[in-house]
Amino acid sequence: MVRKAEPYRIKMVEPIRMISREARIRALKEAGYNPFALKSEDVYIDLLTDSGTGAMSDRQWSALMLGDEAYAGSKSFFKVKDAVEEIFDYNYVIPTHQGRGAEQVLFPHLIKRQGQYVVGNMHFDTTMAWIELNGAVPVNLVISEAFDTQTEHPFKGNLDLERLEEFIIDRGADNIAFINITVTCNSAGGQPVSMENVRGVKRIADKYGLHINFDSARFAENAYFIRKREAGYSERSIQTIVKEMYAMGDTFTMSAKKDAIVNMGGMIAIKTDAGLYAAASASCVPMEGFVTYGGLSGRDMECLAVGLQEGLDVDYLESRIGQVEYLGEELRRRGIPIQWPVGGHAVFVDAGKFLPHIPAEQFPAQALCNELYLEAGIRPVEVGSLLLGRDPQTGIQKKADVEFMRLTIPRRVYTDRHMDVVVDALAAIWHRREQIRGLKFTYEPKVLRHFLCRLEPMDE
Ligand SMILES: *Cc1c(COP(=O)(O)O)cnc(C)c1O
Repeated sequence: MVRKAEPYRIKMVEPIRMISREARIRALKEAGYNPFALKSEDVYIDLLTDSGTGAMSDRQWSALMLGDEAYAGSKSFFKVKDAVEEIFDYNYVIPTHQGRGAEQVLFPHLIKRQGQYVVGNMHFDTTMAWIELNGAVPVNLVISEAFDTQTEHPFKGNLDLERLEEFIIDRGADNIAFINITVTCNSAGGQPVSMENVRGVKRIADKYGLHINFDSARFAENAYFIRKREAGYSERSIQTIVKEMYAMGDTFTMSAKKDAIVNMGGMIAIKTDAGLYAAASASCVPMEGFVTYGGLSGRDMECLAVGLQEGLDVDYLESRIGQVEYLGEELRRRGIPIQWPVGGHAVFVDAGKFLPHIPAEQFPAQALCNELYLEAGIRPVEVGSLLLGRDPQTGIQKKADVEFMRLTIPRRVYTDRHMDVVVDALAAIWHRREQIRGLKFTYEPKVLRHFLCRLEPMDE
């Protein structure tokens, strides 16, 4: 099938450049072989994250000028509220500075006591952290296909409904704080959740009286996958798919830095529960700010209100996800092992299969990230054993199910020619993969070590 071209033209550009190989070698060494410590100036194609890295449209930039910087009741807030009502049919909105702010404010009101469980497909890192900081236990019940990079499955983000119900019966519904459905499932590789699966979760939630929260960073991409892959949805608009799905939830938390295409922002939305809204509002004030701005300026909220709508455009979604698929297909054609089918926002390269001679405790995915930077100035991110860390009890390095190198694609930022550069660079590395060495720590912080650690290549 021939792909359509991007449904936009470029109005403003930001120059980027590739520094020399010698300069890249120096920069990586100075960064302690940890791409997080690289200066973005020294990066040619930055595929670290799709979070807050998208390009705003002319409509968003012009909306920015309309920002009403009132402390309370700003008209920019009401534009966000109206957009949320129109798109999701949820009555209450609390803006937050980003997704984790929403989790911080809402979760204490959903977790009733210490030791409760929060079950979901696969919780995102900050989501997991806020569940744990509130004394609850995060449980991931994604279907097992999610962990097999080579099986074809259209909705690898689905919850395993059988295990979900067994878990609830086994632990008792009283001990479940809420069900958290992440769309798309970021930690499983941006894999979508089907409508049928959400319907199944809703049936179980109703049977046991449980609350459903959607972790909604990529709600529009998920709806696009439903339209494309699920029987009965090919003629449906993205808008009606989103409405149908969110009608089954009670609340959502959102990082607006992804599908809402803003550089900073997030929110909590509550369908009908006025009591929960009042409680969350009271926490928002000391944590994020007054309830009509939650850490955002009026201009941020203007861009957010426009971005929420733009993110639903089907031509844009086709081009966006088409680009990620293009990158995945080209890599596959060259024999490079990736998570298949590709997810919405990134291609996940299976670095364990790419570099089978490097053991988990020498971080094969991080070694591959570094090699890709040296090869062509591309910055990917490790999602493997380095991210996972050590067992807090035994201190033993945990081993990731899959050693992923994530190539995350920012929205409306790079062209397919940039994708070709990535493909060529990885293909060149593929041919000399036996020469790549693993890594060891020179500095290993106790918490969040993947952001701050320093490494060096193993000796020959
Ligand atoms: C990014 C993200 C978050 C956290 O949002 P921030 O805006 O980064 O704080 C939570 N959940 C998912 C699924 C995400 O992708």
